[in-house]
Amino acid sequence: MERMQAFKFELRPDGQQERQMRRFAGSCRFVFNQALALQKARYENGEKKLGYAGLCRLLTEWRNSPDTAWLADAPVHPLQQTLKDLERAYSNFFAKRADFPRFKKKGQHDAFRYPDPKQIKLEQGNSRLFLPKLGWLRYRNSRPVLGTLKNVTVSQSCGKWYVSIQTAREVEQPIPNGGAVGIDLGIARFATLSDGSHVAPLNSFKRHEMALRRAQQAMSRKTKFSHNWKRAKAHVQHIHARIGNARRDYLHKTTTAISQNHAMVCIEDLQVRNMSRSAAGSTETPGTNVRAKSGLNRSILDQGWFEFRRQLDYKLAWNGGWLVAVPPHNTSRTCPWCGHVSADNRQTQAQFRCVECGFEEHADVVGAINILRAGHARFACEVSDAVRSPAAGTHRSDCGVAPCHA
Ligand SMILES: [Zn+2]
Repeated sequence: MERMQAFKFELRPDGQQERQMRRFAGSCRFVFNQALALQKARYENGEKKLGYAGLCRLLTEWRNSPDTAWLADAPVHPLQQTLKDLERAYSNFFAKRADFPRFKKKGQHDAFRYPDPKQIKLEQGNSRLFLPKLGWLRYRNSRPVLGTLKNVTVSQSCGKWYVSIQTAREVEQPIPNGGAVGIDLGIARFATLSDGSHVAPLNSFKRHEMALRRAQQAMSRKTKFSHNWKRAKAHVQHIHARIGNARRDYLHKTTTAISQNHAMVCIEDLQVRNMSRSAAGSTETPGTNVRAKSGLNRSILDQGWFEFRRQLDYKLAWNGGWLVAVPPHNTSRTCPWCGHVSADNRQTQAQFRCVECGFEEHADVVGAINILRAGHARFACEVSDAVRSPAAGTHRSDCGVAPCHA
């Protein structure tokens, strides 16, 4: 089994390299925005959208034109990769997986990617990495990089530069440990397992909320772009980075423990992206319940459900296990004992009491049990599909739960 894995390290660039990286990220942003503006204009004129090859020809023109000749200073492959990213953003939009691509802003996800391993050299013994037009870069070597190098992404976050080294390697097909479990995600309890255990809420944002607010207020009192303003801004970024680190660390520990102890994990197929979409709405369709929703949204984002699910998915795959996503149909209202479905079963946010048979349990545990059941049904259904047409059988297919032809 081939395992793709990314290894991320903090870079230790010198001043010259840091300036170069900022410029390269800026050039990529310029190319992305330029290409996006062009595609938009073509669309408004009723023309067909340019393909990747067409965009690359334009990129060559831009690099040769005297107005934008500075683009030629940046390595060409990362610029082309930016156009690939735009292509992908468009196809995600047309497949209804994402919003329409947006213009990139300075300081938001500054990054560029080197796709060609032949141009990259990695000397782990010397803790350094060679990248075209940047030369040898030192990095904080915290762990060995395993496998053959595929591509490298350089990114900036909170004033620090990072390198993410993507590799591939052959590993033995692992045999999963443990049984099946259902997980209900919530606000009061981050995750409740169908065996009755639960994971406490993350709340890293709340813990740092006061410090962050104070730092932001201090920043707003300073004259913009002044020396003091820059210092205050660095402080805000520092707190953001700490929040992010605490959250990432916590999520990784949780998902590692769950994926190592279970062969199958069932989870509600929440549309996290929809739920966390701006509660304010737009001018045409103003949002309803803005206050309540933005509170919930912040909690969802704070808790990182999407990231939790993403990590569970790949870690289970690494351990030979399965992640089964089930549509959220009545999972919080169905009695696991007698099967009675009623909104009255759930009397409060935390308490479940069946009005038919009197079964009582914590509402989140009930949800997790129902998710596990739905997951079993879905899994059986997909396995039988896979037996009939082996190529079509993946645990991600869109088979519904209800009509199960086992
Ligand atoms: Zn019941």
